[in-house]
Order: sequence, then C-alpha cells, then structure tokens
Amino acid sequence: DYLDRIRSVEGEVGAFITVDEAHALAQAEAIDARIAAGQDAGPLAGVPIAVKDNICTRGLRTTAGSKVLECYVPPFDATAVERLRAAGAVIVGKTNMDEFGMGSSTENSAYKPTRNPWDLARVPGGSSGGSAAAVAAGQAAAALGSDTGGSIRQPAHFCGVVGLKPSYGRVSRYGLVAYASSLDVVGPLAGSVEDAARLLTAMAGHDARDSSSSQEPSVDFAAALQPLDRLPSRPLAGKRVGVIAQTMGAGVSAGVAAAVQGAIKQLEALGAEVEEVSLPSFDAGLPAYYVLALSEASSNLSRYDGIRYGLRSPEESGLKQLYEATRGAGLGAEVKRRILMGTYALSAGYYDAYYQRAQKVRTLVQRDMTSALQRFDFLVSPAAPTPAYKLGEKSSDPLEMYKGDLMTVNLNLAGLPAVVLPCGLAGPDSPGAPGLPVGLQMVGRMFGEAELLAAAHVFE
Ligand code: GLN
Repeated sequence: DYLDRIRSVEGEVGAFITVDEAHALAQAEAIDARIAAGQDAGPLAGVPIAVKDNICTRGLRTTAGSKVLECYVPPFDATAVERLRAAGAVIVGKTNMDEFGMGSSTENSAYKPTRNPWDLARVPGGSSGGSAAAVAAGQAAAALGSDTGGSIRQPAHFCGVVGLKPSYGRVSRYGLVAYASSLDVVGPLAGSVEDAARLLTAMAGHDARDSSSSQEPSVDFAAALQPLDRLPSRPLAGKRVGVIAQTMGAGVSAGVAAAVQGAIKQLEALGAEVEEVSLPSFDAGLPAYYVLALSEASSNLSRYDGIRYGLRSPEESGLKQLYEATRGAGLGAEVKRRILMGTYALSAGYYDAYYQRAQKVRTLVQRDMTSALQRFDFLVSPAAPTPAYKLGEKSSDPLEMYKGDLMTVNLNLAGLPAVVLPCGLAGPDSPGAPGLPVGLQMVGRMFGEAELLAAAHVFE
C-alpha cells in the first residue's frame, strides 16, 4: 500500500532520493516468514519507515543530499537503522534533504527540491524536509530525521507532523553522516506522539560505537504514555510550563502567534500552570550556533577528498589538484560557503574571537535553559517564526534563512530533548490559499523524554 502511495504522489512531492521497492519487499517478506513460522517479528513488524539520506543503510545508496556521495552504497547500517530493522521495521527509501543537513528548506539538496504536501508551491522545511513530507503525504508510516539545529522540528512544524529531537547522546550517531558532531542527533518524525515514542524506544540506548552515546538506561517510552480513554479531567495538574518570552515577540507571524496562544490556553485547560520565562542568553544562541556548527562542519567535511569516499575527479596532475577538482565539483554552494566560514572561525588569530566566544555563549545558553528547567517541568515556544514559505522565497538570502532557526538551535547547544507537535493552522496569507500547519515546541529536561512525551501525548 505504501509503495502504491509513493508511486502515485512522489512525482508531485519529491520526498525521496532513492526508493528501492525490491529492498523493501524483501524485508517485508522476511517479516512475513517469521510471522508464518510463529516467531516474534518485533514491535514494529512490517511498519514502513523512510530514512533521511544522511543515515547509512546497508546496500542502499546514502548521498546526504550531496553529489560527492552520489554513488556511495554503505556496507553497514547506522545503529538507529540496525535497531529499527531488528524491531521489524521495513525501510521503504531514503529521503531528500539539504546537502549534509545544511539548510532549512530542502532547497539545498544537490538533487531536487521537495514540495510541501499541504501546498505544493511551498517548501517542506529542512533539512529533514523529505522525511516530514513523506510522513505528511502518507508515503511512510514514520520517518527518521537528524537534528543539528532544528532539522527534525522545523520540518515537522511546516508539514503538520510530530518531530522529536532526543537528548544529545540518547540515540547513537554511529552511521549518521556527520555535520556538527557535538550537536547532531537522530530522531523520529511521525503521525502521532505515540508513534514517535515507539520509534525512539526501538532506537535509544547505549552504543559502544559512538563515544558520545549516553549510558542512560533506555525505557519503553510508549508504555509510559497514559491511555487517552482513562485520563483524569486535568491530566497536567501540578505541571509548570514556562513560555520562552524571547520567542513570542516581534518577528513571529500573526498566524503562528495565534496558534501558539491557543495551545497555551489548552495547556492551562489541561491543568498546567503557565507562566512566561525570560532567558537572557536566548538571542545570542543563533550566532553562536552558526559559528560552532560551521567550525565543526569544516573539520568533518575534510574527509570528502576524492580518496576515501564517493566522487573522485579524473584530475591527474597532483594530489592538491585532485582535492580541488573533487571538492569543487562535488560540493554545493552553501556547503562551500559554510566550510569557508568555519575554517575562518577556527584559524589562528580568529579562534579566540569567534570559536572560543561562541563556546562561552553555548555555556550561558545551557545554564539559562537548565536553570529555567529547575523551576518549570517544560518550556514551550513556537517551532519557527512563520509557517511554510514559498519555494525560492528565501533561497537567495542565506542570512534570512539562518534567522528562521532562532527557536530551535538553542536546544541543540544545550543538548535538551524537544518535541514539536501540530497545534493548529495559520490562516491563509492570500485569498484562496490553504491554511498552513503550526507546531508547538515543548522542551524537556535532559533525558526527560518519558515525561516530555507523556505531556505531549495528552496535549495532542
Ligand atoms: N537549519 C540549520 C542549519 O542549516 C539546522 C540544520 C540541521 O539541524 N541539520 O544549520
């Protein structure tokens, strides 16, 4: 059914870089055989999952949205994929994304843009735009994304689905194509909080192959959700919710502000005590993020040298020429811009002024968030300042695009878990246009996914 759905809508949506029907059907048949033999086929038996194309899949091309990896077929599965397969999931294909995760609209893919299923003239968000669009268009039951500065949460908001950024270290990064390793995390996009919880349960837990993987014991996050038919009348009674003041002011569109205000009223009606909280370091997070993420990226992406992975230019006159020709042809304009800026920030003489200062801001952001979460059980904000915008509207202005990440990047700097869930529609911005989804971002304590998902579930 899902492959049929992909066949019928993929021409319009363009959520996938690779769909391998034979690969998907072989996995499904293996699950069928286990069920026929009376074996346990796992908690996700037969569930069709789409995987962002920067997460390695054995035998299935993994491009990270880049020409430099156009022909790369990994000989191994990322830990997250290995665990999903072990739980019975079927990988239907690899989803489109901004090259190496660098972008907020999926327009930086080296292959094609993806369109938002709610309005095909608009972007699905990014960088996990293909994964969000695939779930919204019914091409997969759920999807994997990666989130370095909002790449799971912002597309979830643009496409009206649930997106979960787990705590840093909760899900192994082994087999995730690195962007900024101290910020990167793998997580689910799904149609409901419960589905996201099921995927997280299957993927979470220590992995010796990722040195930053946490030892935090994994729990059954889905089992921790309250059954909705037996909820008390005020299920969030006793919970304290802080609305991040810096995310509710100027710059937020009227439609997003109205939907989020509505969500805050709903949290109160569910029994939560809601109060505004000011985080003084909040606005400094965005520039600090762009210094740190680009610095790490400039180092991580040095591995695409034409020797070890993927594309190699036929240039034969020398090693330096080979590097230049391979990277010149294989990497896109935004990726080159970021490598240059990151290299600059790390260079002798500028390191103290940029990289080290940004690290200090990171510590302040972490402290502000952690101390707010001592007073509040959750923090909330919009997921992004506006709903989905039109293709091409921001692609020529990188700074304008970076600004849209204001509400999400701080959580990566702090390592905290956050879920984005649909909280209403913003009205059409022109007559006859459709209303567009708005997502509420809920932030939890470090490794507090069980409590966070439980609250999101009753809100949903
Ligand atoms: N849009 C942000 C960036 O371009 C975040 C991307 C991400 O989370 N991968 O860096």
